[in-house]
Amino acid sequence: MENRRTFIKKSGLFLAAATLPYPGLLAAQPAKKLGVALVGLGYYSTNLLAPALQKTDYCELRGIVTGSPEKIPKWQKQYGIKDANVYNYENMDSIANNNDIDVIYVVLPNSMHAEYAIKAANAGKHVWCEKPMAKTAEECRSIIDACNKNKVKLSIGYRMQHEANTQTIMKWAETKPFGAIKGLKANAGFYGTNISPWRLDKEMGGGAMYDMGVYSLNGARYSTGMEPVAVSATQTTSRPEMFDEVDETTIFTLEFPEGITAHCRTSFGENMNRLDINCANGGYYLDPFQAYSGVKGRASDGTILEPFGKNQQAVQMDDDALAIINNRPVLVPGEEGLKDIVIVEKIYESASKDGQRLSL
Ligand code: NAD
Repeated sequence: MENRRTFIKKSGLFLAAATLPYPGLLAAQPAKKLGVALVGLGYYSTNLLAPALQKTDYCELRGIVTGSPEKIPKWQKQYGIKDANVYNYENMDSIANNNDIDVIYVVLPNSMHAEYAIKAANAGKHVWCEKPMAKTAEECRSIIDACNKNKVKLSIGYRMQHEANTQTIMKWAETKPFGAIKGLKANAGFYGTNISPWRLDKEMGGGAMYDMGVYSLNGARYSTGMEPVAVSATQTTSRPEMFDEVDETTIFTLEFPEGITAHCRTSFGENMNRLDINCANGGYYLDPFQAYSGVKGRASDGTILEPFGKNQQAVQMDDDALAIINNRPVLVPGEEGLKDIVIVEKIYESASKDGQRLSL
């Protein structure tokens, strides 16, 4: 009870119970929204998250953390952000004293996720962290530890797991309407010509595997509901002048229990976006399976998985906000991000050893 009371005070939620006829209804109906601060105002924050925040029921974009002062006036004007809620990377720690902000969403280059997610947790704010969770499994564990120590919630930005058709195939992994899963293919990539420099920089956590490959990997894990036991991988590039540090293409095989093999492919040099699941008595696919909208598919019995009309990021952030408001587990916790990065590290290791099969 104390935690809940402290949280309500901290987050600025006021339950005007006395004025409402059915106070019991209030548990799931916050009078105020959670204040979210975005850290890093690049492509994803600007074009997807900030607009999606306007469509949420339980969140409000109240703060920004940026190292680019020239971006501040436009963001303040567009979203009505107060001067007091504008931070830079140096003074971000003082956000601890700002009751307007409940959640800090880390949307920075991959190598910076751990440092800023830990700062956010130490400021006593709930943490949302973009995928891939971090560069190394060790960094992922430090984020989880910091969130546990500060008693704040941690969600990873795997938006697909909040998407309705994806949730249907996650359920089918349990109910097996087409019999046992026999194998699958998960391909995610795009042909990039104007790729942000940090995505080509090894130190910054660049490379197709970290960027797009985690969709294939996470897709293989959520569509089987299993954890792989071994992996093998190869990496290639068709544009060595551009990809002199990181992988342009990674092809990897995941061996799951029960003899299930996932053939996965990811690339910055090829447009692909499809998840195929083969089962004993048929199968199903999603195509596209990780686009921002229009994820759709079909099953071998003719069942159509129609595109889901809602804004994915708004659904994701509302799901995560409700988990905070109602103090229940989040859908995609830090442990889920960590599981992928443990496997990503093995994929890079296998590729460095000519595709050697490595046990997990
Ligand atoms: P971006 O390059 O467009 O933006 C990165 C931001 O970080 C910029 O505002 C940049 O100024 C800032 N930054 C701060 N320090 C920096 C430094 N040292 N070097 C480079 N940039 C620095 O990248 P993005 O596409 O917005 O991706 C950001 C994160 O969001 C990544 O982790 C990415 O994987 C993730 N993302 C997730 C999705 C999704 O669908 N879930 C989609 C796109 C990106």
